[in-house]
Amino acid sequence: MMEINHSKIKETNRKKIITLLLEKNEITKLDISRKLDISITTVSTNITELKDEGIVEEVGSLESTGGRKAIAIKLNENCRYSIGVALTPNHIKISLVNLKKNIIENIRVRHKNDGIENIIVLANENIGIIMNKYSISSEKLLGVGISLQGTVDFKTGIVKYCYLLGIKDFNLKEKFEHLNVPIYVDNEANLSAYYEFLNRKDILNNLLYISITDGLGLGIIINGKIYRGDNNSSGEMGHMKIAINGKKCKCGAKGCLEAYTSMNSLIDNYNEVSSCNILDIDEFEEKYIQKDEVAQKILDKYLKTLSLGISNLIMILDPNSVIIGGDINSLLKDKIEVVKKNIYKDNLFTDENSCNISIASFKESYLLGAAMMPIEEFLEIK
Ligand SMILES: [Zn+2]
Repeated sequence: MMEINHSKIKETNRKKIITLLLEKNEITKLDISRKLDISITTVSTNITELKDEGIVEEVGSLESTGGRKAIAIKLNENCRYSIGVALTPNHIKISLVNLKKNIIENIRVRHKNDGIENIIVLANENIGIIMNKYSISSEKLLGVGISLQGTVDFKTGIVKYCYLLGIKDFNLKEKFEHLNVPIYVDNEANLSAYYEFLNRKDILNNLLYISITDGLGLGIIINGKIYRGDNNSSGEMGHMKIAINGKKCKCGAKGCLEAYTSMNSLIDNYNEVSSCNILDIDEFEEKYIQKDEVAQKILDKYLKTLSLGISNLIMILDPNSVIIGGDINSLLKDKIEVVKKNIYKDNLFTDENSCNISIASFKESYLLGAAMMPIEEFLEIK
């Protein structure tokens, strides 16, 4: 028992020191000892170990708060890396970040969505290319986080259902285990929520992230943790029913919110009413900017339905912060006031002052969230 406690304390001290070094550019051992309230002997032992592992390095001398010159310690930010992978219906996106969470490289590869096995081969190939390019061994890789738009059992890495990639009860994690690093598979909206939260964690505990892409997902952060539900199926906001016998949804059911509020629903609606054939959201945005009447009408209706969905959500969870993101950000960024007006009109239970609704600050935050997962797990004090 004693030994377990001892190794736990040792691990905790080590993580505390790395976390402090991540915040500071350069710091002396004495200052580490003071800031963390750990004995100087323990700090020295840890620093020696971290130096041997290539995680920290000594840099020149620095005036310590004790007044004497002392050797400064710096984190070698490229000592460890993490890889985020996003599998979307058209692309494989890969992001390489270093321990300091700086993005080293982003790549995007188009795929034909012709079967998950082909997508996996392509993803593994490109992970290999990026690891070779930066000479990253599995010892230097903290892990791979994988994002997709579907229901995922986070613990096992099994995708329960992802109709956009055509998979059901599929063990995605095992397809990447040959890399010999921790693999994390999670839902795209969860990872987006997580990334937004990590960037605001000094001011927020709870956050809701609505991700509008080919589908509509919801990431829920409660007390700083992703809330996944008892069966990993939380946040299926897109499949809340808003109409009896309503529009057919891609999931097979009728009247789902997603059928009215996904990015594709805007494009399909536009094509239906105007008899045009626009292909993507950028083209829709262009029409809207050119004051195309059909585009304007369709967006107005879209915002009303989206606001209804968000309003229902606020009624249930009473959050302080709702963030709208996904691939639709640029179209919605000037529309946030309209959404707020729709939500707070006739609302006796909450108002703008108690719940802030905003547009996401980061693009592709699901990819960055996926890349952050191995780093946060590496640093987390359990
Ligand atoms: Zn549905």
